[in-house]
Order: sequence, then C-alpha cells, then structure tokens
Amino acid sequence: MPELPEVETIVADLRPHLVGRTIVRCELRFPSIVRHPEPEVFIDSITGLRIEAVGRRGKFILIALGAGRLLVVHLGMSGQLRLVDAASEIAKHTHAILDLDDGRQLRYRDPRRFGRLLLGTEDELLLSGTLPKLGPEPIDPTFDAEELFKRLRRRRAPLKAVLLDQAIVAGVGNIYADESLHRARLRPDRAAGSLSRKSVRRLHASLRDSLEVAIRNRGSSVDTYRDAWGEVGNQQESLLVYGRAGEPCFTCGRPLAVVRLAGRTTVFCTRCQR
Ligand SMILES: [Zn+2]
Repeated sequence: MPELPEVETIVADLRPHLVGRTIVRCELRFPSIVRHPEPEVFIDSITGLRIEAVGRRGKFILIALGAGRLLVVHLGMSGQLRLVDAASEIAKHTHAILDLDDGRQLRYRDPRRFGRLLLGTEDELLLSGTLPKLGPEPIDPTFDAEELFKRLRRRRAPLKAVLLDQAIVAGVGNIYADESLHRARLRPDRAAGSLSRKSVRRLHASLRDSLEVAIRNRGSSVDTYRDAWGEVGNQQESLLVYGRAGEPCFTCGRPLAVVRLAGRTTVFCTRCQR
C-alpha cells in the first residue's frame, strides 16, 4: 500500500506538470471509484476546472481546483495515478480518465479497487465522512518529539497500532511503522504509553529518518506501487525489516521475528528492539 513517501513522490513529480492545466473532459469507467459526490455530479463539476496546486496530506493526494475545491485521490492498496499521452494504450483496471488541455491524460488505475476519488471543499468532505480527520504530518518541521509524546501518552494500545492510526500521525503504514520502530530500537508490541520521553525522541527521529530516506529513494515498490510515470521506486532495496521475516537482523544477525499486530504482519528483532 502506498504510504507517505510513495504519495509524496507522485505529488512532487506531478506538480510541475499539472499546475495551470485545465481539466477538459472526465470519463469514469468504474463510477463507484468516486465516493463523493455522485459520479454524474463529479463529472459535471470537474469538467472545465483549472488545477491551481498539487499537494499531499497523509496518504491523500490533494489537487486544488479553485474556490476551495479539492480533487482528492486515495490510492488504497493498489491505486496508481499516472500522467500519460492521450494516445497511449489504456491499461486494464483504469477507472477514471481526466483529459487535460495539453493533450495529456491523468489516469487512475486500481486493480483491487480499495482506492477512491473525492471532489469537494475540505469541510464538505470531512462532513460527508469520506475524508477522515488526520493527525499531524510526521515530517512537518513544526511536529516535534513533545507533540508525539503527548499523542502516545496514556495509550495502552501497542506502538505499532498507534503509529498506524492516521488520526495520531498521518501517512505511516505497515512498511514505515516497522522500519521506524526498528531504527528506534523499540518493540512494536510495547504499550505506546510506556515510552519515556527519551524513547519518544528516538522514535520521532527514526520516523523522520525512515520517511525522508524513502522519499529520497522515490518510495518502496514492495507490491504494485508505481510512480506517476509507471516506474518502480528504489527504497525496497534498503528496507531494514519490512518483508524480511526470518532473515538475519542487519545489526545482530538474529533471525527477524514476525507477529500480527493491529491485523498487520509485523517484523522486528527480538534482540535489538526493547
Ligand atoms: Zn537485531
């Protein structure tokens, strides 16, 4: 599933190509990929709008279309947002096509269909429940270790589960939760509220490091993730624990353990992580 670094890579790549373009036509091949508003209203409303900005919040792609309106794209498990020539072949599982005024198309493709498209003002989308309320951005300079400490304090849930909660911090999923906890030398099954300030400072730094390194490496293509040009990322080559259950820990050599936490496969080192 694309997480913060993968979504950030797509957003940064698309921004210079999309800002200033106008959406001249919209085709929905699988209308239920639009969760708000009704698909017909979505098509009518989006046609003719000019793209003013391209941003990200957590794992959500936010395309600003003027008058406070946003086109929101969540990639779900297997979503891909690609910018292509209108003449290029339409890949299987392409659910939405936006024609731009420069002859290119922004296409949304999603074999597993867990992703979604939304259109509306932020308030409208929050009110409709289609856009959840998100916690702070872990790589935002104003998000400090003290804020993370406050958010973890008194929580009895396992650390891993708390990091995956998008209302606590936005953008972290299974890959970067495991990577950050390993870097911070913290067990994923520890109660989040049991961490000292010192441990939280380590976790805060590790979270940033894992996410920023992954952004520099254009994300992890551990499954179906592709960037806006259809290319794979590079971070999967450098992951410390994710996907490495049973393989030796790079630090101590002990085989990495695997448990299920918050319904997700979780890999960690029983010797290095406490
Ligand atoms: Zn180890």
